[in-house]
Amino acid sequence: DFSVRLQVKGEDELAQLGKAIQTLATDLEYLKKERNEFLASISHELRTPLTYVKGYADIARRPNIAEEERANYLSIIYEEAEHMQKLVKDLFELAKMDQHSFHIEKQPTLLCLFLKKIYEKMAPAFQTKQMALIYRCEENVTVHIDRQRFEQVMMNLLDNALKYSHQGSTVSIDGRMEKKNVMIMISDEGIGIPEADLPHIFERFYRVDKSRSRTGGGTGLGLAIAKEIVEAHGGSIHAISQFGKGTSMIITLPRSE
Ligand code: ADP
Repeated sequence: DFSVRLQVKGEDELAQLGKAIQTLATDLEYLKKERNEFLASISHELRTPLTYVKGYADIARRPNIAEEERANYLSIIYEEAEHMQKLVKDLFELAKMDQHSFHIEKQPTLLCLFLKKIYEKMAPAFQTKQMALIYRCEENVTVHIDRQRFEQVMMNLLDNALKYSHQGSTVSIDGRMEKKNVMIMISDEGIGIPEADLPHIFERFYRVDKSRSRTGGGTGLGLAIAKEIVEAHGGSIHAISQFGKGTSMIITLPRSE
């Protein structure tokens, strides 16, 4: 229990020390609360798919069940297991990041070439949903990024743009320079994010619409992971959105010479 409360008066050294301890105690209290909330979220997130797996497995094992029905239950079980696998993978990623035991290996990379490769990789998925993916890049500057990690960031953002957009709409990838920074923007014309939710979407497990995110295969960790990776590169990420109109995710990276 960190509920230490010191009455500190005056400005002498002892008072300063008292203040420092007070600040530390507050920080620890906060961290403890955050950790507890995170653990509660994890068990909650695992409980839902486990309930499905257990329930459907119980029905599927009954001897008198129709083959067709059994096949249906088994595929639900498979999907839920897949979801749990994704969740565990994402959690492991975040745990590594928290421990600072994950290494960013920056390689000099031509921005436009990098974005074009991502575009080519993702375009078919957009076609399947009758959506268009476009790509624009003005200056083929060199950026220093961990390509594998940064590809993961781009994939997470594009997955979201795909998941939270309507058929027939367009998503764009833009790369450009602004002052001394490299900007990468992914814009969609999808469902958008309500203003009240916008400050929270990069938090772990935060979702605007839980059921929609789940049926789309989301774990609620994609943006949290993206943020960690971008920040580990010395960059930042933020979203602008209009509810019902669309969302833009903007990554800013310092241009390293
Ligand atoms: P999820 O796995 O739920 O997609 P993310 O961390 O990737 O988790 O995103 C967090 C939440 O932010 C999503 O559940 C969704 O509500 C919202 N969101 C993210 N990207 C978009 C987008 N492009 N358009 C609308 N909402 C989005």
